[in-house]
Amino acid sequence: MIRFYNTLSGKIEEFIPLRENEVRLYTCGPTVYDYPHIGNYRAYIFEDLLKRFLLFAGYRVIHVMNITDVDDKTIRGANSLGIPLNEYTKKYIEAFFEDLKTLHILPADYYPRATEHIPDMVRMIKGLLEKGYAYFKDGSVYFSIAKFPEYGKLSKINVEELKAGARLDADEYEKESVHDFALWKKAKEGEPFWETELGPGRPGWHIECSAMSTRYLGPTFDIHCGGIDNIFPHHENEIAQSEAYYGQKFVNYWLHCHHLVVDGEKMSKSKGNFYTLRDLLAKQVDPLDLRFFLLSTHYRKMLNFTFVNLEQARASRQRILDFIYEIEHRTFPPGGQQEKIKELSDRALNDFREALSDDLNISSALAALFEFIRQVNQIMSREKLSQEEAGTILQTIREINRVLDILPEKKEEALPPEIRQKIELRQKARQEKNFALADAIRDELKELGIILEDTREGVRWKRIK
Ligand SMILES: [Zn+2]
Repeated sequence: MIRFYNTLSGKIEEFIPLRENEVRLYTCGPTVYDYPHIGNYRAYIFEDLLKRFLLFAGYRVIHVMNITDVDDKTIRGANSLGIPLNEYTKKYIEAFFEDLKTLHILPADYYPRATEHIPDMVRMIKGLLEKGYAYFKDGSVYFSIAKFPEYGKLSKINVEELKAGARLDADEYEKESVHDFALWKKAKEGEPFWETELGPGRPGWHIECSAMSTRYLGPTFDIHCGGIDNIFPHHENEIAQSEAYYGQKFVNYWLHCHHLVVDGEKMSKSKGNFYTLRDLLAKQVDPLDLRFFLLSTHYRKMLNFTFVNLEQARASRQRILDFIYEIEHRTFPPGGQQEKIKELSDRALNDFREALSDDLNISSALAALFEFIRQVNQIMSREKLSQEEAGTILQTIREINRVLDILPEKKEEALPPEIRQKIELRQKARQEKNFALADAIRDELKELGIILEDTREGVRWKRIK
């Protein structure tokens, strides 16, 4: 049974998708006015862990992530450089996709862009006007939260504070202010606008996500994610718009990840503790160490980024890499498999799955992996494993890595079979005390760029660099 903490109910709930074996997932994407910072990537990596776990658990996942390429911030950025909006956002969209690859984040199935879905938003706003949830004021359209009695059910905000008719144009605002919010903003001097049935203008930020999520996933879908700072006003407003328009529940499970702070403080450019992925790459940080760091704290806990904590994550990840290297670079005698290794593997996979089924309990999941490594190392220090057993061990780690994806891309191909055979032949020669032949094979391998090292645990091989 899979369970998640649902922000909507404030409880851990059993996860049951609407369709058997299929999960429809929406995650709020970047506003492409700048390079995302590592706090943004904490959210995207939490969502990647969630998605990979659902795939691992056997679900098909349909994932939509929007690209906000028109809003207050992108317009401000484009205007400050005096270039068209799409020229300004292009650079950051490309950078974002590059970062996703660097961090091993699985691509979404759809990346709808706000500027390419204006008709969907206009249709929805028109519907909200017709149903009486929205009203025109000075050429802009606002959502009347007084007309939607359930307003506040996600963020538990106190709607009593609402001042009748108070309106807000800004996309992002403080939790203290409960206002009618803009669905459509009248065209302003110096801002891009679209000629539509609502008049010239541009959409508010919140309507983008309501229109694009339901467009690709249907009026009701399974999971909606974001950071906790999206809960209010953004997600609260998405619920109001979507449920008022469709007259049915918008999302069944709302999952939010906590903030990332740097050295215990909120990240800010003025404090000099603000990092983009690129800043860290320039400091020679391995992006997969960063990935491991970002995913190894439970998503509902605050995560403190410090270079000391990052170093700890690097060292933990290195233990996994060293273990794999050991197994991949040793030769094992042919032979079948004892129950012991198979049992350990099954238990590791099972514990890993169980832990993540419990609201993505990553600490327990990683503990299962490290326990597996510890036990296998213990066995290897006492006895020789067979080829088949080594294969089972690697298979188990690769299976777990489908979720973590923290192993480097294989640059080096596996040992070619003819070389493996030569190593085995040499082993045999040594056993038969035919040292002349053994040395001849060793020299031959050296010519081929492979050095052998005889250790207590067996033969290791390395490529000459
Ligand atoms: Zn959104």
